[in-house]
Amino acid sequence: MKISNEEQKRSAEFFVKEIRRLTNRPLRLMEVCGTHTVAIFKSGIRQLLPCEVELISGPGCPVCVTPNDYLDMAIAYSRQKDTIITTFGDMLKVPGSTSSLAAEKAEGRDIRVVYSPLESLDIAAGNLDKKVIFLAVGFETTAPTAAATVLEAERKMLRNFYVLSAHKRVPPALNALCAADDITLDGLLLPGHVSAIIGEQAYAFLSERFSVPAVIAGFEALDILQAVYFLVKQIREGKAAVENQYRRIVKPEGNVAARNILSQVYEEDDAVWRGIGLINFSGLKVNAKYRRFDAEESIPVEVEPTVEPRGCRCGEVLRGVAKPFECSLFGDICRPEQPVGSCMVSVEGACAAWYRYGTGRWQI
Ligand code: SF4
Repeated sequence: MKISNEEQKRSAEFFVKEIRRLTNRPLRLMEVCGTHTVAIFKSGIRQLLPCEVELISGPGCPVCVTPNDYLDMAIAYSRQKDTIITTFGDMLKVPGSTSSLAAEKAEGRDIRVVYSPLESLDIAAGNLDKKVIFLAVGFETTAPTAAATVLEAERKMLRNFYVLSAHKRVPPALNALCAADDITLDGLLLPGHVSAIIGEQAYAFLSERFSVPAVIAGFEALDILQAVYFLVKQIREGKAAVENQYRRIVKPEGNVAARNILSQVYEEDDAVWRGIGLINFSGLKVNAKYRRFDAEESIPVEVEPTVEPRGCRCGEVLRGVAKPFECSLFGDICRPEQPVGSCMVSVEGACAAWYRYGTGRWQI
């Protein structure tokens, strides 16, 4: 049901008033998702909150958490003459150890931007003498589409299509953050899109194991304000539950059909997250039945040694222990048009969001 602008204004005023009334100590609330980070900046929510409420960006930008060695492998594949790389556009500018896919494309490698992994199948069908490798990057939201693409490639008997999987699962990363000694979190704003697939129940461990209040939130300004209100209310009342502010999209059980497609093709695997390191069962790799579609398993490639960008603090930014402007490269050496680290590349990256929408280093 659509509500009028006047009703929205009244609701926003109520949430802000209540957040201010209920806040009686400094609170560190992490918005896990990069889409939330951008929405918070665009709507000016930070300025409406009491100064005790600190919003911290988390590891919810898939491009940002993809480690350098994955980029290096994708670049190495792109240099093979019989290979076409297909990828979402925001992977192009992410710096690898010594190059980027954009730089390789400029050198003439066949790297094509797609808007859906399914487009890769048309490219594979039209280039049977080439190997077509889709860079499968993203969380539980995008992984089912990649899985459906593998099933469709099988149905079409395409022998030259592969995925290079860097898919990640959000709950194990949250588990790692909550278990870390150097990270203090009073509450979590959980990602609406991912939650639409995995459902509310996937987060039960947050309250059971860590007693951290958590709210699944939508992406409108009013959604986020209401979710912050729910968090602050829980904290004030000494509760730690998983609440669902985004009920119009997120069902308790999630999207069972999408998860079924996912589980036909992928299995859980340990995965490395940029800045966080190896997290058990936090990745998705192609299972044994469909292993021939797994580029890493099927196509040998020599990858250069991985080098991390000097001075980049993406790891700390992704763990919420440093703000982007605390990186000495922010804004001067590292900018969206000339990124040093992955957090400055994607529009959902915390560094890019602070660069585009933050009003200065003094604004916290
Ligand atoms: S400002 Fe650039 S170099 Fe610094 S942490 Fe962010 S992405 Fe890395």
